[in-house]
Amino acid sequence: MLEDPCRAPAEAAVAYHPDGLLVVEDGHVTAFGPYAEIAPTLGAETPVTAFPGKLITPGFVDAHIHYPQTDVVAAWGSQLLDWLTTHTFPAEQAFADRAHADEAAAFFLDELLRNGTTSALVFGTVHKTSVDALFEAALSRDMRLIAGKVLMDRHAPAGLTDTVETGRTDTEALIRVWRGRGRLGYAVTPRFAVTSSDAQLAMAGEVAAAHPDVLIHTHMSENLDEVARVGELFPHCRDYLDVYARFGLVTSRSVFAHCVHASDDALRRMQRAGASAAFCPSSNLLLGSGLFSLKQACECGVTVGLGTDIGAGASFSLPHMMGEAYKVGQLAGETLDPLHAFYLATLAGARALRIDDKVGNLAPGKEADFLVLDLSATPLLARRTAGAATLAEKLFILSVLGDDRAIERTYLAGRLAHARTA
Ligand SMILES: [Zn+2]
Repeated sequence: MLEDPCRAPAEAAVAYHPDGLLVVEDGHVTAFGPYAEIAPTLGAETPVTAFPGKLITPGFVDAHIHYPQTDVVAAWGSQLLDWLTTHTFPAEQAFADRAHADEAAAFFLDELLRNGTTSALVFGTVHKTSVDALFEAALSRDMRLIAGKVLMDRHAPAGLTDTVETGRTDTEALIRVWRGRGRLGYAVTPRFAVTSSDAQLAMAGEVAAAHPDVLIHTHMSENLDEVARVGELFPHCRDYLDVYARFGLVTSRSVFAHCVHASDDALRRMQRAGASAAFCPSSNLLLGSGLFSLKQACECGVTVGLGTDIGAGASFSLPHMMGEAYKVGQLAGETLDPLHAFYLATLAGARALRIDDKVGNLAPGKEADFLVLDLSATPLLARRTAGAATLAEKLFILSVLGDDRAIERTYLAGRLAHARTA
């Protein structure tokens, strides 16, 4: 993808070469285009790997995911505030133990790669060690990953709270040790306005201001009960976004997960600040949170990435999220173009995470995070794809019928990081 389909026709935004060649050198893309044009420019001894019938794409970018919630995927029976108490908080308590965090981080990153996700913006738990474990595992895999320790000093179980001062100390220490190592980045990560005091939100804003290369990652306007609770806790704020704005947390480096119930006014203020939204359709459906309007966000000019929101979301697969986003659009009276959905899962996510100068598409100079997709991975996929005439049709079929089986290979910085085994 080259352009934002919000502002250009989707077909014009995509660069697709039916017989293409991707040239990778020292972990970076050096050329991408029609085979007939590029092959003659290569030396005779250049090794070429052929993938006939396969689709080579950029790696997917997950704009919002919680690694400690892998074990609450597919938890039954509640909406956001109950779901946190019943399922999520007990699972997150286990991350005080480094060995548990190490095992969970390895599983989580391997699952991302198995699903073709090469970059992600990730919540840890309140425990500093949870983020140490994740960063160590991501560094060993050379992933471009951004993560942060949760800040949460109220309205949560005792084993899951920090304080203003320990939150600051741990966050500063993690930034100092990990930010910029390999391809890692840090995000200051208050869980949401309900679970941080005014003093902690102010601290989060101060730390973010002191480190202009870190992101700010939190939740906003996901669920109506949550929105009402924030109104009770911050009666003097104009709306949910204003809570974050008052503490310096609405910036061009901010990513707000959900924004399902955000008004045009709030979205326009986000756009003016350069803040982004993470659209998490599977999570919004499973928790009954509501229908995000991509059309509204587009009209307000907000950058929108696509997130799985594991564990409220039901899959690690960004192609699956493209299909879920389409279904949310159907319920909201909006028809999502498959090429636009693909943009959300790749370059838009990179833009939201401020890493689009490095990943998100296959433009020369970018880091070579790319995928080999098998659009015939299952009998039904093969049957439907065989009858598809256009790239948009094929991507739509993938988004409805595809899963990790369609990811034949995942490459990180030009190195094979995952190969489907069956
Ligand atoms: Zn979330």
